[in-house]
Amino acid sequence: MTNIVVIALKEKCPFCEQGDVFKKSSGLHMPEMNEHCPVCKRNLLGEPGYFFGAMYVSYGISVALGLMEFVLLKVVLGIKDPIAILVPIVLSMVLISFKNFKWSRIVWLKIFPPGENTSFLTEESSANKQVQEAEKRRRIDGVILNRRVGK
Ligand SMILES: [Zn+2]
Repeated sequence: MTNIVVIALKEKCPFCEQGDVFKKSSGLHMPEMNEHCPVCKRNLLGEPGYFFGAMYVSYGISVALGLMEFVLLKVVLGIKDPIAILVPIVLSMVLISFKNFKWSRIVWLKIFPPGENTSFLTEESSANKQVQEAEKRRRIDGVILNRRVGK
């Protein structure tokens, strides 16, 4: 099994490690996700709000990166001016924001894989099944009741 960091950096499906999670895009717009992995067909979108938690991963990545830069600039390079430390940190966070968006979603998919049962569509169809079953039961009960009344 390949390291999740490598998978995230390659932007591959965290389940089969081959399919692309995001659609090929050019230019500066929000990356678009594939609904299902093109290779293993796993659901990649989850239920509505599934990626809310990926924000915490994104925050973690930003803080970790910021801290590493801080240590590099302050301790390793010995820069004293706070502005000269802050500007590169903020700039790098803005520059990697789209990448961070992608990495955090892939890591989130790996930590909490969206179950096929929890996907929005499956949930809806299982709810439909329950309604159909309840109707069937009512019809059977009705037949039994009619038979009893007919006696
Ligand atoms: Zn896959």
